[in-house]
Amino acid sequence: MTQSQNQGPVEYVFQAEMSQLLHLITHSLYSHREIFLRELISNASDALSKLHFEALTNPSLLEQDGNLKIEITLDEETKTLTLTDNGIGMDQEELIQNLGTIAKSGTAGFVSQLTGDKKKDLELIGRFGVGFYSVFMVAEEVSVTTRSFKEAADKGYVWTSKGTGTYQIKEVERKQRGTEIRFQLKEEAAEFASSWKVKEIIKKYSDFVSFPIFFNSEAANQSQALWAKPKAEVTEEQYKEFFQYLSHSEAEPLAHLHLAAEAPVQFKTLLFVPTEPQTSFFQADDRDSKVNLYVKKVFIQSDCKDLLPGWLRFVVGVVDSEDLSLNVSREVTQKSGVMEKINSYLTKKILGLFSDWATKEPEKYETFWKGFANYLKEGLHTDYANRDKLLELYRAASSTQPKGLVSLADYVGRMKPDQTEIYYVSGKNQGAIENSPNLEYFKKHEIEVLYLFEEIDEFVLSGVGVYQEKPLMGIDKAGLKIETKDEEAKHQEQDLKGEDKDLVLDLFKKVLGDRVADVIPSSRLVDSPATLVAPQSAMSPQIERMMKAFDKGFSGSKRVMEINLSNPLIQNLAKIVAKAPEDSILTDCVEQLFEGASLLEGNLEDPTQMVPRANRLMNTAVSLHLRAL
Ligand code: ADP
Repeated sequence: MTQSQNQGPVEYVFQAEMSQLLHLITHSLYSHREIFLRELISNASDALSKLHFEALTNPSLLEQDGNLKIEITLDEETKTLTLTDNGIGMDQEELIQNLGTIAKSGTAGFVSQLTGDKKKDLELIGRFGVGFYSVFMVAEEVSVTTRSFKEAADKGYVWTSKGTGTYQIKEVERKQRGTEIRFQLKEEAAEFASSWKVKEIIKKYSDFVSFPIFFNSEAANQSQALWAKPKAEVTEEQYKEFFQYLSHSEAEPLAHLHLAAEAPVQFKTLLFVPTEPQTSFFQADDRDSKVNLYVKKVFIQSDCKDLLPGWLRFVVGVVDSEDLSLNVSREVTQKSGVMEKINSYLTKKILGLFSDWATKEPEKYETFWKGFANYLKEGLHTDYANRDKLLELYRAASSTQPKGLVSLADYVGRMKPDQTEIYYVSGKNQGAIENSPNLEYFKKHEIEVLYLFEEIDEFVLSGVGVYQEKPLMGIDKAGLKIETKDEEAKHQEQDLKGEDKDLVLDLFKKVLGDRVADVIPSSRLVDSPATLVAPQSAMSPQIERMMKAFDKGFSGSKRVMEINLSNPLIQNLAKIVAKAPEDSILTDCVEQLFEGASLLEGNLEDPTQMVPRANRLMNTAVSLHLRAL
């Protein structure tokens, strides 16, 4: 390599977040520094895959330099490591774009996810695409010499940086295609200046890289397509290592699916279900698939979205198709029917795996459900074709098993002989749910009610509507008809009737005005005097929350107040109305009942009136009590 004489290096300043990230990497992440090598090898392997892909439409790329490989050399004396690949390389613009800025995911996202746990934070480095910079954990200064495959002349560039605020780029003459990364190990990283150590790290993290890696001219990895081997020849340990390689993690997979399909399409696949999610379900960068597409062992595309439905994006692995033509663009690949067939075949297999666990390995299923319930619920809402299977996989706690996982089939098996509906109730936790007056009738009659602790559950179940022809019903809808004929008759006997009933309903309506949609007699309350429920016509709570998020002025639909006409407090209120309709204790009681019910629902907006009013009511009660002593 000779440097061109007439052009000096040009200095550039790192994007602001980049500097922040570099500082973080060099100053706070010391343990597990060995992953720097995994990241550099993984980048080199990507560059080779991309070159291989380009060569599908431009075979001349492989004519002169077709032996795609990664070469690593270590000079133990000078503690200098060099990694060379003959992949796609980078031109000047790409160098600036790729090594000077964080284009896609952004440091901000990375930094916001840092946990302080070094091991986890290092895993994040791999996943956030900031892998290259991990080299600054072990090197003071790094030089990247590269020539893009697009470059016609022998024009290359050297990028150098100390990983502080700036980097330099200089044009050089370079014959060889691809990238060479060279650096001297820092004194405190001298442990990596040992050949056996480097060999060990390559073996540990990069054994499955599908291009050969040579270390000091010796073959250092297996470079085999594990998925193409017969199952009998693959050990559990190899599966685990392959999962860790694919997921850039040290986690254990929960299970793998290794298949060779012949019809309707020919493909081989090795997929993994992780033990826990690798990104948070609610995070924007969780949208990507984690399955890589190969065609006849040639890498085509990472994170290929079309191979599995979106809700299965936690599945990690490889699909290698025999039926796709190598000579096609990525767009065409995606549009061909082959992808769809693979997608539906794999979805069926994966659902079969889950349902096997659910029936035969309940503990495994529980672990899986804990980690991935939200993804399955998303599937219930979006994957209509698989809705029935997903419904069988759905689990919730219930009044029978408040800490357990109840399936809808279990629930139906336990339904009372005359019960026609499946009931559910939403609340933050078991305590909040079990204190709700709306549950009283169900408790008294030992009717099982599903407990939904997450917003997404109610949204999903109300969308599904029925299971085995039994409507799924929220217990807080107004006018819920739950009583048998006998119960209804008994209830009616004890209830306030005629004029008394009208007096008390009118009292509530007058005091509460337009704060409620209506006031009606309740058939669900057993002990409590009153409760709030949703009107029949209410929007789903999910839509209401969305409306509130978009429109600050939107207050949601008003609640309906249900009154227990056989409750003594309500009956006494009716008597007072008859005698002294203007008595202030009436207003105080109605307000207190309303605010108490709102409080139980977690919806009391202004609690300032509640305490003075309670004090007034107590004062009255205590004076009367004293008189009676
Ligand atoms: P990631 O690889 O996750 O995108 P990195 O920070 O490791 O993030 O690398 C940034 C980018 O630099 C890569 O996406 C790639 O475009 C480019 N790059 C890194 N190493 C190489 C290489 N050996 N050959 C070609 N391009 C490379």
